[in-house]
Amino acid sequence: MTSLYHSTRSRGASVTSKQAILAGIAPDGGLYVSDALDQAGIDLSRVCAQGFSETALTVLRTLLPDYTQDELAACVGSAYGSQWDSPAICPVTPLGDDWLLELYHGPTCAFKDVALQMLPQLMSVARAGDGHDVMIVCATSGDTGKAALDGFSGVPHTGVCVFYPDGKVSDIQHLQMVCQPGDNVAVCGIRGTFDDAQGEVKRIFADRALTGRLAGHGVVLSSANSINVGRLAPQVTYYFDAYAQLVRTGAVGAGDEVEFCVPTGNFGDVLAGYYAKRLGLPVCRLIVASNANDVLTDFLTTGTYDRRRPFHKTISPSMDILVSSNLERLLYFASDGDCELVASLMGELAEKGAYTVPAALMDKIRATFSCGRASDDETRATIRSCWEDRHVLIDPHTAVATCVLEREARTGAARVCLSTASPYKFSSDVLEALGVVVTGMNGFACMDALEHLTGTVAPTQLSSLREGEVLHDDVCDREKMAGFMESACARVFL
Ligand SMILES: *Cc1c(COP(=O)(O)O)cnc(C)c1O
Repeated sequence: MTSLYHSTRSRGASVTSKQAILAGIAPDGGLYVSDALDQAGIDLSRVCAQGFSETALTVLRTLLPDYTQDELAACVGSAYGSQWDSPAICPVTPLGDDWLLELYHGPTCAFKDVALQMLPQLMSVARAGDGHDVMIVCATSGDTGKAALDGFSGVPHTGVCVFYPDGKVSDIQHLQMVCQPGDNVAVCGIRGTFDDAQGEVKRIFADRALTGRLAGHGVVLSSANSINVGRLAPQVTYYFDAYAQLVRTGAVGAGDEVEFCVPTGNFGDVLAGYYAKRLGLPVCRLIVASNANDVLTDFLTTGTYDRRRPFHKTISPSMDILVSSNLERLLYFASDGDCELVASLMGELAEKGAYTVPAALMDKIRATFSCGRASDDETRATIRSCWEDRHVLIDPHTAVATCVLEREARTGAARVCLSTASPYKFSSDVLEALGVVVTGMNGFACMDALEHLTGTVAPTQLSSLREGEVLHDDVCDREKMAGFMESACARVFL
């Protein structure tokens, strides 16, 4: 099958999946999509008989057809190996009458690992022999930075430079980044917010003088953000694999429909579930769970997407997002590929900060998607009730989804809640939810207390940070970020 990718906003120029992965975003600002999605289809009985890595190969072969079988097999082998602390990679475990899909068994204990262990492999293959060095530049609110550092560290001809808002990530997230070893990594805190860091990274990409200077040394800049096809495609795997696990344990019959509830920020995770449905997985409903930043709840309820609203800092910070970029791909597919409509809606979002989707299109979207929100108090109450009633310890992001799922009416279909981070990554918030006063306790004290209180064990990926050596102590103002990145390029490549 030949599948070409083009922008959600125009059909003019087509590229291969390798080119789409290297470019990240289309030249007109749209996201890369492939119209082969609906013709592809994945054989469910085959998926039910195979393990995670084989299913990853099946999914990637379908979505990235210009990679060879051998290329993808090598990528899968490197991405889903012994760096995962569960042989299942993404195990499904019971949560009362429902199920948890645990996506946090990778090296950084958040679901971003599923994609960011794979993206560097896909990029390396796509670049084979291009003669350039690539610097991945990334602004993070916490989880993505460490997952990118881990995924790209040690990759030949590649560097990774991460900026985080100093003082605004959790103790553990901070240590995860500043203790990151590797000759090709650079980490710097910035005095400012995540939006400041993100804004400056965008400016750096557009700085012709800077990128020209780097090009003179054979260095190009690239990003690893969640609109990249190479991050989206690997996430489709765990929807199929979760279904296979449920069929094998007898929890669902082959062909039965399943529902997924997804804690959502940038809409990448839940969109992968929609891709799985279009590829033939029997998904009857996808439930979009939001925290107090409930722009998606309002959108799915009213049909109007309006980013002109206050930003709330919550205890599920990876979902503190006002513009869910990957929603653009849903609009494309749900409108049967109406590029003109997508382009005009995105134009309105850029100009006015809001757009309204035609009613008929909203009806189609609502046939699959439902939604709900959970406040911080509701999130804490859910962490507590999951622990006290079921002895299942969940992180605040997972708790947002669990809270929303519990309010949804049952349809009779099996229900799976995506669990996106280890509770130990957010030990202090989880402890507080369980009624412990944490004032004055640092990240490790909270980790210890959580182990004592619950009799569970922190993942070694996190507890071993205690012995970690701080290798990066740079903190700079926004204006100095470009200079920091340029000297990182010199150190790594020259
Ligand atoms: C990134 C993240 C999310 C949100 O995923 P999106 O793909 O951005 O919707 C949810 N939970 C955790 C722990 C995350 O790191």
